[in-house]
Amino acid sequence: MSEGNETRGLTIARVALDVPVDTLFDYRIEAGHPVAPGDRVRVPLGRRTAVGVVMEIGSEPAVSREKLRPLLEVLQDEVRLAPDILALLRFCHRYYHHPVGQVVATALPAAARRAKPLRLADPPRYFPTLKLMAAGAEVFPPRQVLARRLARRLLDLGCLEVTEARRLSPRWRPAMARLLALGFVECRSEPPKPLQTGNGVPLPPLTPEQEAAADQIHNHLDQYHTWLLHGITGSGKTQVYLHLIAQVVAGGRQALMLVPEINLTPQLEERVRSTLPGARVVTLHSGLPEMERTRHWLLAATGQADVVLGTRLAVFTPLPRLGLLVVDEEHDPSFKQQEGLRYSARDLAILRAHSRNVPVVLGSATPSLESYANAQAGRYRRLTLTRRAHADATLPTVRIVDVRGASGPGDLLSAPLREALAERLARGEQSLIYLNRRGFAPVLYCRACSWTSECGRCAAKLVLHTADQRLRCHHCGAEAAPPARCPHCGNADLLPLGHGTQRLEAALRSAFPGIRLLRVDRDSTRRRHAWPAMRRAIHEGAVDVLVGTQMLAKGHDFSRLTLVGIVDPDAALYAADFRASERLFAQLMQVAGRAGRADRAGEVILQTRFPDHPLYKALAAHSYDAFAQATLEERRQTGFPPYAHQALLRAAAHRLEACLAFLGAAAQAAGDAGEAQKGVAVFDPVPAALPRRKGLFQAQLLVQSQSREALQRFLAGWTPRLEHLAARRVRWSLDVDPLEL
Ligand code: ADP
Ligand code: ZN
Ligand code: ZN
Repeated sequence: MSEGNETRGLTIARVALDVPVDTLFDYRIEAGHPVAPGDRVRVPLGRRTAVGVVMEIGSEPAVSREKLRPLLEVLQDEVRLAPDILALLRFCHRYYHHPVGQVVATALPAAARRAKPLRLADPPRYFPTLKLMAAGAEVFPPRQVLARRLARRLLDLGCLEVTEARRLSPRWRPAMARLLALGFVECRSEPPKPLQTGNGVPLPPLTPEQEAAADQIHNHLDQYHTWLLHGITGSGKTQVYLHLIAQVVAGGRQALMLVPEINLTPQLEERVRSTLPGARVVTLHSGLPEMERTRHWLLAATGQADVVLGTRLAVFTPLPRLGLLVVDEEHDPSFKQQEGLRYSARDLAILRAHSRNVPVVLGSATPSLESYANAQAGRYRRLTLTRRAHADATLPTVRIVDVRGASGPGDLLSAPLREALAERLARGEQSLIYLNRRGFAPVLYCRACSWTSECGRCAAKLVLHTADQRLRCHHCGAEAAPPARCPHCGNADLLPLGHGTQRLEAALRSAFPGIRLLRVDRDSTRRRHAWPAMRRAIHEGAVDVLVGTQMLAKGHDFSRLTLVGIVDPDAALYAADFRASERLFAQLMQVAGRAGRADRAGEVILQTRFPDHPLYKALAAHSYDAFAQATLEERRQTGFPPYAHQALLRAAAHRLEACLAFLGAAAQAAGDAGEAQKGVAVFDPVPAALPRRKGLFQAQLLVQSQSREALQRFLAGWTPRLEHLAARRVRWSLDVDPLEL
């Protein structure tokens, strides 16, 4: 108490800093320097300075007065994190048991973690001059493709931003420079256009089903509900979102729409922009150049953007006027971050909706079983769209082809599939053949000694890629030239086993010489801008047959596509992960949904060695409900999610024993505290599904409880002790609500 006089009036900022220690750091605030929670500040840290976020203001320092150092600077700019964002960050810290400073670092764009104030500079914008308006885009001869495109776009839109110009072509700059030099264009820096309404492509009238769904949500726009919009593929869920977003924006509020793939955002962005012409739409995803991402984040955070369209990381965007959240394809695993802070963007979207008392719409043709069960239990409100929106479109017929007897080419392309393909080719329609495995063959095999191509760093096979003649590990990226002879016995007769998309492509090309075939997988789309060009080719009808992985399954609307072939899907039926069949069903439903989306009827041919499997029967009947109910019943009986809540402690080390020793000690610590008895089950440590990756052994420990609260109480007591149990060489992390076991 003798210090009472000295501590009086002491104000302390508790700051989250990007360090792996789970604590806030205390700093003294000098009198007369106002600081509030949510401010970004510069502080001394060891011998350097760091930028962090003030989470709390207090008066009782956690360190002695002498050690307490002063806060150096409050960054003066337009960004102070609002209370709802701070609450979201605190929740992530608590719920995912992740160091608070690293939570904050995950949630903020890189620029917000630097010691420079964030300011929204007005970007240069290009405007057509009267000269161009009079001359028209045709003033450029057709071979000046880019100049013509830019001119047309400028005339269409009235003005062009750098990002839009770059989207037209990565080589837009020299062409634009010529337009400027010729006096067709002028460049000005102007404040963003003010909000305007009307005069764009009007939204088509909703179908009665769509309208019923939109009305329900519309009637509750001013309160929190989680709406599960369960609509079959092609039922027009996107149209429902757009109507709601339009209403929310017209009411002066912001909408956040999360989508699974960066891949899909350009199309969706076009659609959103063209149907909401007055609205300022920004995108947020990890593929954006940093400057652009920061700018978009700032536009959202300062309330200037009306619609934010982004991938999972966008869920952290500050939105002062937030009125609606949408999570499209809510079942998609990419909403879960798989490293660092392993958050679920879908779950956080629901949390944000709740804390701001606004609706959140989860949309899917194949809802996650978690969401489906929540709807059944009445926690979410389910709305269904049971028919396709396009007047003449119906669901495709699904034919199951038994390939048990087949071997050789019939294994890959059955006779019925070949006939159906030939018909489509004759009629000038498109087909898609789906095989969710890239490369030529999953492994190279020696007939003489049973040698197989293995990765030296992972417990995995090297996949044969024939496009560039490489053996490649899909887990660590290691590469080698395929050996001419078996490295073990010298035999020259090496056999590629199994099939990937490249082999499928080769089989199709030899069965149908001269077909216009396009393979779409991660290998063929690696180059930037490869996919937009491919998409254009598909839409323009320059492609007869598409071969691809799940990249092709999602969200695309190809109107000439009438046949979908599904090849070799069986492996996931009997995979160890209990979610494998749920993922398989969702993928197959998605890819089947690509067929017959416009006025031509569609057909799906599924080749399998398990023609009577209930999963395929449910698919053939287009019955998600049959699948979901049967699978939920299994989960209930086996006590798996959603009837249990899980956390997975993962460990990696150079020796498997080190992993298992750490996990064993962790299990022991759980038992010692008697916590395991309080409705929490702690399983035995086991090697991970991929037991070795990038040279490190991987093992895991599953913790499970029927009560989320019990699990969280347990984790709160347990995780702080893990720090002291891990030997120096063991890396570990906790995954709450893991999606992959
Ligand atoms: P989903 O997101 O459910 O797969 P989309 O919103 O992409 O479906 O719609 C599928 C197709 O139906 C698209 O081509 C879309 O333009 C069309 N469509 C959607 N709603 C309507 C409507 N109300 N009237 C006419 N066409 C519609
Ligand atoms: Zn051999
Ligand atoms: Zn590897």
